[in-house]
Amino acid sequence: MSLSWKWFIEYQTRGSAHMHGIRRTLHSESTEFQRIDVVESEEYGRMLVLDGKVQSTLRDEHIYHESLVHPAMVSHPRPRDVLILGGGEGGTLREVLRHPVVERAVMVDIDRRVVEVSREFMPELSGGAFEDPRVELVFEDGRSYVQGRRGEFDIVIADLTDPLEGGPGALLYTRDFYGMVSSALKEGGMMVTQATSTYYSDYCFATIYRTASSVFGVSGGYHVWVPSYDSTWGFVFGSKEPDPSRLVGRFEETARRIGLEGLRYLDERTYQALFALPKELVSKLQGWSLVATDEKPAFMPV
Ligand code: SAM
Repeated sequence: MSLSWKWFIEYQTRGSAHMHGIRRTLHSESTEFQRIDVVESEEYGRMLVLDGKVQSTLRDEHIYHESLVHPAMVSHPRPRDVLILGGGEGGTLREVLRHPVVERAVMVDIDRRVVEVSREFMPELSGGAFEDPRVELVFEDGRSYVQGRRGEFDIVIADLTDPLEGGPGALLYTRDFYGMVSSALKEGGMMVTQATSTYYSDYCFATIYRTASSVFGVSGGYHVWVPSYDSTWGFVFGSKEPDPSRLVGRFEETARRIGLEGLRYLDERTYQALFALPKELVSKLQGWSLVATDEKPAFMPV
């Protein structure tokens, strides 16, 4: 077999990696925050890569974005004001705007270039979301945006780069930060965050889970298989009232009632599967006591 592409290797740990055949590089630059690459991969189509980590691919981004957004949005009775932290490529914003009840969607990304590059090379990801009149786009550190806000949002969605040491997202996974998010939420509000791999960095997922539970009265975690990440990917929610796990068995009926349309991945069965964490992970979560703080954040190793 002759292969006419180069290989991009993404490390999950020092001893494990996912190889992607790359036909060509469409764009590369280093900003003050991170390195940005957009490449055309053989298997997944165009991919956005930040600091050597695949963020979104055209083939499977909907699995990640639907799973991040809709459990929180569907379980909240009236999510009118939504804040997205990060989310540069616009897929999270696109999913939030599917909800007719949304009146205001603020997206705060630290790096203007991720948004601009994604709009130019992968416009399918935002699907016109940035032109929606309900959207406010802000370029600022998500943490400084949230700090000092009181009772402003129904839902906060953290779609940030992984907590890598020295990376721009590292201090947005701590107890101190979740305290600020809790203050920025209205009564009955909730936050959800991407929470790394539940397999390769289960200790990181467990720490984010425990950290959220140290701040919020209702909290939990779920995950989904994302092929381009080569792993099950975790999400953690922290809430003042709604609990997405209680929507199991009623997801489709509720989605229909609130006018949520156009989903490609989530239905009754896949929604239920999100919450089916394996037994060994559940017992790890139950026994986990580490909470990430500003003084002692939790990092992914690579
Ligand atoms: N789906 C992705 C994943 O987990 O692989 C994450 C999506 S998105 C591309 C991550 C975004 O978070 C980037 O656009 C990055 O610029 C942004 N980001 C990182 N740190 C941030 C911060 N402190 N404040 C706001 N945005 C931040």
